[in-house]
Amino acid sequence: MGAPPRAILHLDLDAFYASVEQLDDPSLRGRPVMVGGTGGRGVVCAASYEARRFGVRSAMPTARARRLCPEGVFLAPRFDRYAELSDRVFGIYRRFTPLVEPLSLDEAFLDVTASRALHGDGASIARTIRRLVREEAGLAVSAGIAEVKLAAKIATDLAKPDGLLEVPAGGVRAFLAPLPAWRLWGVGEVTGEALRRAGIATIGELAAADGARLERALGSAGAELARLARGEDPRPVTPDGEARSLGSEDTFEEDRLGEEALLPALREQAERVARRLRSAGLRGRTVTLKLKYADFRGVTRRCTLPGPTDDGRALYDAARAQLGRADLSRPVRLTGITASGFGEPERPQLDLFAPAEAPATRRRRALNAAVDAIAARFGEGTVRPASEGGERKIRWAQKPRGKEEE
Ligand SMILES: [Mg+2]
Repeated sequence: MGAPPRAILHLDLDAFYASVEQLDDPSLRGRPVMVGGTGGRGVVCAASYEARRFGVRSAMPTARARRLCPEGVFLAPRFDRYAELSDRVFGIYRRFTPLVEPLSLDEAFLDVTASRALHGDGASIARTIRRLVREEAGLAVSAGIAEVKLAAKIATDLAKPDGLLEVPAGGVRAFLAPLPAWRLWGVGEVTGEALRRAGIATIGELAAADGARLERALGSAGAELARLARGEDPRPVTPDGEARSLGSEDTFEEDRLGEEALLPALREQAERVARRLRSAGLRGRTVTLKLKYADFRGVTRRCTLPGPTDDGRALYDAARAQLGRADLSRPVRLTGITASGFGEPERPQLDLFAPAEAPATRRRRALNAAVDAIAARFGEGTVRPASEGGERKIRWAQKPRGKEEE
């Protein structure tokens, strides 16, 4: 690969929601803290490292976490506060590069290749950022540094908690080789099992495996995985405003069966994607619905809209229509909605001869602006338009469990 090596940072705040609670209430420091739904069907969004010692993990039903850690502190999330601190931390990142790709409230990629002349090499920048986040936000952020995204992200996972790990230039393949294959992006339960059956345990074995053998084991995904295993990952760091797709998905605490059971989650996801689109100034024409069944097999269904949109209701309607093309007789463990096919951000209508907006569209645009303003003030997911019907009211809604937390 002829291009000079890149310097990519992956930064991930440790046990973010739980750490914020410990930051704001010193009496919680050193104690097992779990943030999440405290009701009967609630799940843990974040667990402090003290709680993890009891076996508690994020995405675990709260009831189970209570059994594992009865003396733990269980708190409802305060998304407004998390969003405020996330903004502060991302502001620190942007002092070093405009190339910040948020993955969630607490996780981002930074491309600092062009920042090195001014700020020092990738590891120095990561050390400075870790110090500033500690000083200015009171939080621990772990860092991975590598030439490619894939290796930077794995390095962060290995560095946690409160650590830093650099993969030296030219060393990505050697770094990956001894690691178990499941560490690779895209290797889920099903792929991992197929690899095990093929006698492949490590990333190095995957990198060295015979192409035909891989194709037998994994089908067409085999070649792509082998490239990743060799450390070939040319994906650029893409700020949200330049994203090619924006999506949102949730894994349910209990599998859900049938259309009615899936629609509320789709509504939430559509609104979350719409809000991210609007804040990035993007409108999508392609809507992809993703389902993962209880057996971990996934399907996607995609459709193209007549025109681009950043409206949650339009995304929801499109995703709902795609549900009809999926097998709903089986229990579903995850749904997700992704928007892609972005055009130019829409310009304000100054042309007198442009067709007037339909009143319904105009109303929805005004409503969306109101929802965004409230969400910006009180935190993502605190509010969304009430579902269907003529009069649309704003009502408070509990944010479903997201993928945000690690
Ligand atoms: Mg995190």
